[in-house]
Amino acid sequence: MTALPESIQNQLNLIAEKSDLNCVIRTRNESDIASAETGSGILSGKTLLVKDNISIKGDPVTCSSNVLEGYTSPYNATVIDRIEKEGGFIIGQTNCDEFAMGSSTEYSAFGPSKNPFDKTRVTGGSSGGSGASVAAGLADMALGSDTGGSVRQPASFCGVYGLKPTYGRVSRYGLVAFASSFDQIGPFATSAEDTASLFVTIAGHDPKDATSSTEPVPNLKDCLESPLPKSVGIPRSFLSKGLDPELTEKMKVLESFCEKEGVEVADIDLPHAPYAVSTYYILTMAEASSNLARFDGVRYGNRSSNKNIQELYHKTRSEGFGPEVKRRIMLGTYILSSGYYDAYYAKAQKVRRLIKHDFTDAFQSVDLILLPTAPTAAFKIGENTDDPLAMYLSDLFTIPMSLAGVPALNIPAGKFSSGLPAGLQIVGNYFKEETILSFSRRVEQAGVFTHD
Ligand code: GLN
Repeated sequence: MTALPESIQNQLNLIAEKSDLNCVIRTRNESDIASAETGSGILSGKTLLVKDNISIKGDPVTCSSNVLEGYTSPYNATVIDRIEKEGGFIIGQTNCDEFAMGSSTEYSAFGPSKNPFDKTRVTGGSSGGSGASVAAGLADMALGSDTGGSVRQPASFCGVYGLKPTYGRVSRYGLVAFASSFDQIGPFATSAEDTASLFVTIAGHDPKDATSSTEPVPNLKDCLESPLPKSVGIPRSFLSKGLDPELTEKMKVLESFCEKEGVEVADIDLPHAPYAVSTYYILTMAEASSNLARFDGVRYGNRSSNKNIQELYHKTRSEGFGPEVKRRIMLGTYILSSGYYDAYYAKAQKVRRLIKHDFTDAFQSVDLILLPTAPTAAFKIGENTDDPLAMYLSDLFTIPMSLAGVPALNIPAGKFSSGLPAGLQIVGNYFKEETILSFSRRVEQAGVFTHD
């Protein structure tokens, strides 16, 4: 067996030391980590953690759910093969909300992850284990999945970079589906450059995913050094309600950076964005109720004791799924039922189209859109668990981009006066990740938020 490099060993030791954060739910066997070593590549020597809904051959994948206990993946997700080909070391798997449904990583069979800046607070979610691990130095980079904000919002709560690529940019092969027309795998890192390196590694067409795009992937240099955009837009009327005033100040800091650099700052309108949260929950619950039908105790993971096939399905699903997943399966089934399909599902699809048009209209006149990632700082553990609506509203600013399918990145924007991290969101036109990433790198290099 090849010995593990010392740096990787140190990383594993740190994960063990910081186990109280409950961010890494399992580390891989040392022999598996070592055998994947491939030498050079743009991720050479980097350590990576992967959300527990992305398949790694021979390792468990449970989506932080009891229903998948004991299930081991027989194959690698495409993103795993691509990372190993570029020399990255995948060292373990991270905690998340069950089946990626949540905004805090509290709805997990493993219990909540804790925010490294304040352990009484949430990490955000659903990829909270990935965001917090990178913030705590448990790995150089991590992968999460973003359906409605699950990479960007935890990145914001934990003070790191987190990118949701354009829908279709990154293969979903090997990602356990939550809402297939939204799900995208995305990178977490502590710098714009590392975010870009991981992004170009995992992006690109994959014949194993029918929705994967054939659009060429930008090279790393373009992601880091493209010229600044001519103009950016701010959806001011959408931001007028419920925003923490300290985030309004952060936005002003970013605006003055743009003005100083000769980037025009314009007001834009996203007229249908206020309907995004309700539209998103109707569509994703419908998709989830269909996608999660496969977890029946026959094919994957846990099987409850039973007398007949009916009881097998019933008991496995009743015992295996947690309350939030059950809520969504039941509502999704209702939304898709024959009497209500037109009133809910078909209507929501129409609103989704209008929201998409809001973005295509806005990108006629601006190159990027700037807004906060989450309306507040990380909330307290337990604060929103009994109030699903309050939990859903924490994705108010990330969901419109998920409905439209455009790429968006959380950049760290210093701290709130409480000491908790703040984040802002940079949104680009379809397949324009290089514009987002190179703009963010300029903000980072100029130290716009470093002294907060
Ligand atoms: N918080 C949102 C939800 O609960 C988004 C989740 C995600 O992006 N996976 O659906």
